[in-house]
Amino acid sequence: MTDNITTSPTNFIKTIIDEDMRTGKYDGRVHTRFPPEPNGYLHIGHAKSICLNFGLAQEYKGLCNLRMDDTNPIKEEEEYIESIKEDVKWLGFDWADRLYYASDYFDKLYEYAIQLIKSSKAYVDDLSAEEIREHRGTLTSPGKDSPYRNRSVQENLELFDRMTKGEFADGSKVLRAKVDMASPNLNLRDPVMYRILHASHHKTGDKWCIYPMYDFTHGQSDSVEGITHSICTLEFEDHRPLYDWFVNELGIYHPQQIEFARLNLSHTVMSKRKLLQLVEQGHVSGWNDPRMPTISGLRRRGYTPESIRNFCERIGVAKRDSMISVALLEHCLREDLNKKAFRMMAVLRPLKVVIDNYPDDLVEELDAINNPEDPSMGTRKIPFSKVIYIEQEDFQEDPPKKFYRLAPGREVRLRYAYFIKCTDVVKDKDTGEIKELHCTYDPATRGGDAPDGRKVKATLHWVSAQHAFKTEVRLYDHLFLSENPADEKDGQDFIAKLNPGSIERLTSCMLEPALKNVEPGYRCQFERLGYFCSDTVNSSTGNPVFNRIVSLKDEWARVQKSQE
Ligand code: ATP
Ligand code: MG
Repeated sequence: MTDNITTSPTNFIKTIIDEDMRTGKYDGRVHTRFPPEPNGYLHIGHAKSICLNFGLAQEYKGLCNLRMDDTNPIKEEEEYIESIKEDVKWLGFDWADRLYYASDYFDKLYEYAIQLIKSSKAYVDDLSAEEIREHRGTLTSPGKDSPYRNRSVQENLELFDRMTKGEFADGSKVLRAKVDMASPNLNLRDPVMYRILHASHHKTGDKWCIYPMYDFTHGQSDSVEGITHSICTLEFEDHRPLYDWFVNELGIYHPQQIEFARLNLSHTVMSKRKLLQLVEQGHVSGWNDPRMPTISGLRRRGYTPESIRNFCERIGVAKRDSMISVALLEHCLREDLNKKAFRMMAVLRPLKVVIDNYPDDLVEELDAINNPEDPSMGTRKIPFSKVIYIEQEDFQEDPPKKFYRLAPGREVRLRYAYFIKCTDVVKDKDTGEIKELHCTYDPATRGGDAPDGRKVKATLHWVSAQHAFKTEVRLYDHLFLSENPADEKDGQDFIAKLNPGSIERLTSCMLEPALKNVEPGYRCQFERLGYFCSDTVNSSTGNPVFNRIVSLKDEWARVQKSQE
């Protein structure tokens, strides 16, 4: 054992924090924040950032704020803010009384802007957006100064004041930082700090008609909140010199920005713009469609917060972009539910089986084990009777070589019940479709073993026809066919890569009676079929419909084996 205070696997960010703790850089404080822009629902990539920021605060006994980065009045909606709060809580994190909005700092930012104008570090520019772009230069050529760059402090103060009072039209003027038009870093070529936008803001109403740019807001918001480690994704690495420039010029408290690689997950897209497009064009039923990589979609699908937190821990944090297989996320879910979920019986594509030698009116209550991984979860009774359903795919009239399940003349075990043997197949005269099977059972095999020691090669799940209830079950597959749909180098839009078979609705599923009254959101395993969750949107009392969260087949284990 070491005296290191951290508990989860280490990473380069913890190494930095450990060093800061050792040198007393922030008086031993660790204060992080999660700063979403409320212009969409959070996705699994955000979960990585949430787990990292809140997780570090927990480990180092520090604090983590939740801050809505609401600088753009046009895109933000109350619905998104509420969903963000719900998702962070559901993941298991608590910002206590520290929910902030970047708009809380509009007054402060305005003062900062005035301060920079007064120290000749900011100026009002009359160039249009187009002209500013032209003056900016390129990576290989320096930019050109705006003709308005050398306005006097007095003139800048007056013009900025008039901008604030609403005297100018949108886009006619901006406030820019006076940094360096020849900097090799384009972000430092006099970036825009404020723009005119005659638009109402969800928090500040019509108080402002000028709004600070994200780059002028973010670093100072961190500073105002006393954030110690401002953790963000790699694309902000090039912005760090600008954030540093602002806090240094303003002479205010200086947080340390640290960048890490964002999560990319296979077979899905993660940009909010693309997710919004899926929603708006109706390719999915909403932000919380169970196929979406959003936290609300994963929740509705049946993912547990523990499995997502565990996934985020397993993938770790690094400095280099990579693509994580969705099979790992699924693996984490199986690992969690394997321990917790009841094993239940459900038949998705029913085939009727009549057990000819079973008494007509007899109903037996058989003992079923709730979870073989955890005996403390106990047993329950399941009814057995003369007519049952089995899975269509568990019977073949003409079985190929390695098919060990039911076939004419063959004997199999019914889970927790008896051995049955198929004696007859009834078909539709016209279509040839199999209508029902006739079987006999061996009463001596109750519980699943034959006293004479004879063996069977398959155990099938089943439900009693008169006790089962019929409902809908949805099976899901990846939303996209290609591993990286956002990669459009092949000239194909990501929409063209949608998987047409990503949802299959089965409407005649037969489930064991105990499942009839489960709460929305109830998760269990359907034996041999996978993990399922009762849908929170489409279920009603006494009539749950189910989503398959994940099948039992562990792709991740296979991937890992192949790498050994
Ligand atoms: P998008 O590009 O999807 O619109 P964004 O980065 O603009 O996402 P924000 O709401 O600004 O979304 O993100 C809030 C926080 O979450 C930021 O700190 C951002 O770095 C982090 N984040 C966003 N996407 C990911 C991801 N895929 N992996 C890890 N962190 C992410
Ligand atoms: Mg962003």
